[in-house]
Amino acid sequence: MLDVQALDTRAAQLAHQRRTLPALARIAEFDVRFADVESSRVASRTALSDIRRELTKADGDVDQVRSRVARDQGRLDSGTGSAKDLQAITSELTALARRQGELEEIELAVMERLEAHEAALAELDAAATVIRGQLAEVEHERDAALVTIDADTAALAGERATKAEGLDAGLIALYEKLRKQLGGLGAAALRGRRCDGCRLELNPMHLQALRQAAPEQVLRCEECDRILVRLPEPAKG
Ligand SMILES: [Zn+2]
Repeated sequence: MLDVQALDTRAAQLAHQRRTLPALARIAEFDVRFADVESSRVASRTALSDIRRELTKADGDVDQVRSRVARDQGRLDSGTGSAKDLQAITSELTALARRQGELEEIELAVMERLEAHEAALAELDAAATVIRGQLAEVEHERDAALVTIDADTAALAGERATKAEGLDAGLIALYEKLRKQLGGLGAAALRGRRCDGCRLELNPMHLQALRQAAPEQVLRCEECDRILVRLPEPAKG
């Protein structure tokens, strides 16, 4: 009975270990970090496409002024038209040159912003790649740990089945019920005058009744209700 209890306790420890693998916490952490980087990447890509649109517009504005300059310059170079017309074209060219300068500055500023955003996005992409790599590594670590734990658990289950075979089905059923109710410990050794389950000393009358009980009788601790198993060796301490 105590062997079965020991194996069940070990199996419960393995199950706990399986749920609380350090790799699981790190995976959760990487998942959060990856989600953060992903949302930053989405925002960055949206900002980039806005800036690209802005640049297209700035390019168009500059081109428009440039073609007007070219047209005016052509008319001026051809020398056709009255002196008054030529005068008007000249002053328009002056205004256009100023306007072109302003628009080119805007265009340049948008280009610079575009470059800065592209660099930021590239950094985010690199960060995402790094996190993905770390995540894959920890997932691999977790999988390896699970394989070991599952193999150990399977081995325990086999050993447990062998040990439980020789025990009475009613006793096993009682043990299972108690184990569920009493935090995983359904059977305990009677060590000297003490129950190993609740660690309480049993009263002398109860103790004497237990000692006089027939070997096949199922004994229970008066304090914690657990199945008590008499140990063959003399009590310690
Ligand atoms: Zn007890």
